[in-house]
Amino acid sequence: MEVAPAEIDIYAKWKARAEKVGTIMALFCGTFIGLSILLAYSLRQTARAESALRTLARTDSLTGLANRRTLDERLEQEWRRAVRTQRPLSLLFVDLDHFKAYNDRYGHQAGDAALAAVGRCLAEQLHRPADLAARYGGEEFVVVLPDTNSMGALSIAESLRTAVAQLAIDHAGSEQGRLTVSIGAASWQGLVANDVASVVKAADEALYRAKAIGRNRVAGAILG
Ligand code: GH3
Ligand code: MG
Ligand code: MG
Repeated sequence: MEVAPAEIDIYAKWKARAEKVGTIMALFCGTFIGLSILLAYSLRQTARAESALRTLARTDSLTGLANRRTLDERLEQEWRRAVRTQRPLSLLFVDLDHFKAYNDRYGHQAGDAALAAVGRCLAEQLHRPADLAARYGGEEFVVVLPDTNSMGALSIAESLRTAVAQLAIDHAGSEQGRLTVSIGAASWQGLVANDVASVVKAADEALYRAKAIGRNRVAGAILG
């Protein structure tokens, strides 16, 4: 006589299989979720590292300002924008006065600290997002002032000069007894066809005039 399996036995087998499949599925999903989280974390870390590297490549390590490469790129970009929009563009060349004597007297470490302090001071004085302070090289900085005419540039240059003097960094080898900067300002007013190199050259020449008339000064040039 055949006996039909009890309903409970049929379900027991089915339940055991369902539990096995369920466990395998749960393990599979758990592993999948875990791997996804790991992958997302590693991608985020890589993106962060890449962004930090990009920032490092664009920054001067001593002063934390934009480096020469960033400056060159921004200068070219702002020049093209100025020509396109026929808006003025100003540049400031900032050079520490008697800085060789500062190093000779206080040592290169103190010189480095003073350079970093001046760099920070310059950056703090700029308020427009498009303005850029960069280390040109050695003890020289360049400030890019888009959409700024010669009056604006001279006024910013003067505020930078004053702010650096007010840092009151002792410099016994200077006429002022403190660390100062000379600044050459050049402004392209959108009238004459120049190139960006001629604006840089004009700012550099203005800087030499500022040095010649006594240092701790601002001298300006207008390129039309
Ligand atoms: P001037 O007023 O005519 O500009 O005189 P100066 O002595 O500042 O100019 P000079 O070009 O004769 O000397 C620049 C000095 O800047 C020489 C160098 O020792 C110093 N210098 C340049 N880069 C650095 C730097 O990264 N760290 C330090 N500590 N000194 C630097
Ligand atoms: Mg110099
Ligand atoms: Mg100098």
